[in-house]
Amino acid sequence: MKYDIIFVGGGQASVFGAYEAINKNPNLKIMVIDKGQMLDKRICPKEKLGKCVKCPTCAIIYGVSGAGAYSDSKFNMDYRVGGDVHTITSKSLVNETIQYVSDIYKNFGFDDEPTGLVYNEEMELIKRRCIENDIQLVDTPTMHLGTDGSRELYSKLIDTLLKKGVEFSSNSDFKDLIIEDGKVKGAVIETKEGKKTFYSDNIITALGRSGAKQMMKMCQTHGIGYSAGSVDIGVRVEIPDVVMKTINKNFYEAKMVFYTKKYNDKMRTFCSNPSGFIAVEKHSDNIMLANGHAYKNKKSTNTNLALLCTKSFTEPFNQPFEYAASIAKMSTMLTGGKVLCQSYGDLKAGRRSTEERMSRLNIEPTTDDYVAGDISLACPKRILDNIMEFIEVHDKVTPGFASNDLLLYFPEIKFRSTRMTIDSNMETTVKGLYSAGDSSGYGSGLNIAAVMGILAVRDILKKIK
Ligand SMILES: Cc1cc2nc3c(=O)[nH]c(=O)nc-3n(C[C@H](O)[C@H](O)[C@H](O)COP(=O)(O)OP(=O)(O)OC[C@H]3O[C@@H](n4cnc5c(N)ncnc54)[C@H](O)[C@@H]3O)c2cc1C
Repeated sequence: MKYDIIFVGGGQASVFGAYEAINKNPNLKIMVIDKGQMLDKRICPKEKLGKCVKCPTCAIIYGVSGAGAYSDSKFNMDYRVGGDVHTITSKSLVNETIQYVSDIYKNFGFDDEPTGLVYNEEMELIKRRCIENDIQLVDTPTMHLGTDGSRELYSKLIDTLLKKGVEFSSNSDFKDLIIEDGKVKGAVIETKEGKKTFYSDNIITALGRSGAKQMMKMCQTHGIGYSAGSVDIGVRVEIPDVVMKTINKNFYEAKMVFYTKKYNDKMRTFCSNPSGFIAVEKHSDNIMLANGHAYKNKKSTNTNLALLCTKSFTEPFNQPFEYAASIAKMSTMLTGGKVLCQSYGDLKAGRRSTEERMSRLNIEPTTDDYVAGDISLACPKRILDNIMEFIEVHDKVTPGFASNDLLLYFPEIKFRSTRMTIDSNMETTVKGLYSAGDSSGYGSGLNIAAVMGILAVRDILKKIK
């Protein structure tokens, strides 16, 4: 079967790309392939059972509408957050396209005023404390849909795509590309019924973080241009809302970047969820990762956020993905398939956390999918030193942050260590093959994934007019 455009991976980049394509040219034959279920069938058993049962295909990260369907859906309205595709396009194009995407959100009924636009005295104080402590505050306006709101948005979007004739092949594991004479020709998938090939001269791969490793292997097998990128390793921390009150109220999320004094490594806060919940995701059979989200209508009394260390490596090492995966495997082995949790007080005291000691704190974990233990057994010293230094400096901006009550869940890892070689239209070194979103190595957030999907489609539309 031949299509005008095939999207491989049905996440944020693809659904917004498909929306752009079918709106601009309603006659196009479009296929979206995804390993997981259609959105209405994506149900995480944890919602009912209260704990992760390790499904063969995790509904949180796999399935149509991608990782965004279970995300807190903070939509950052600035090129500086969510990736760095502006380095191959331009800042103004990325910002214009982000605005274009946010207008699509509005068309589907989400027109909440973004937070972080106008500074008041409390925000000025936070900014001043950041300046005093060598922290860069990346203060971009943010729309917040919440996990419930984002599901509603995607439901409406997918319904619209289906009504307009976009085809979806769910439960379809992408296995290979067909490339002839430097041009893409098709994508091979595997379903319960066996292998099948969909043909097209225009294929956009957007496999997300969950597919980053597979994308790297595909590059190696077919000689598609790529380079080894960096990897983000760290912890998800959880702290009572009262400590984060000023930041939460005024910024919703304050994105901070800090270069540690000890190693000059980059640390950053990421994906803060006021009154949110810890999410534990099964990345693969022996890798469990910490994450977090927040609902618009269901609240906890804790804020969670990631503290991530960006690690790039120098020659001859070129396997950042394997490095990060090995760390995650070690922690998953230590916990028998959960994530590690340790209070900051225990970490500083050099002892493991226990349930008994954790029960003396002012905080209740918002998940059961952890084992109280010692993260220093699994986290490399340099990364742990960086995390602890960042916690201490964060405390100067947010007094109480470096308290014994801070819970650290390990590991949180952002696997996007392959950086594909793409041009300003998202086209790879293979003609007709495009790469968008997290698996391209240029994206790490919803805003940039959607932008990349749309920019790739716009280039294809020029060719097939
Ligand atoms: C819990 C959580 C919270 C988050 N919160 C935020 C937030 O608040 N704000 C923000 O900007 N970002 C957030 N993110 C990140 C954001 O969701 C991603 O950056 C974004 O979804 C990337 O879009 P994408 O299209 O590149 O990939 P994804 O949306 O991840 O989609 C990739 C798709 O590829 C499919 N796939 C993978 N492998 C295969 C295969 N072999 N065959 C077929 N299909 C395959 C998957 O099923 C998936 O649907 C969060 C992520 C998580 C997990």
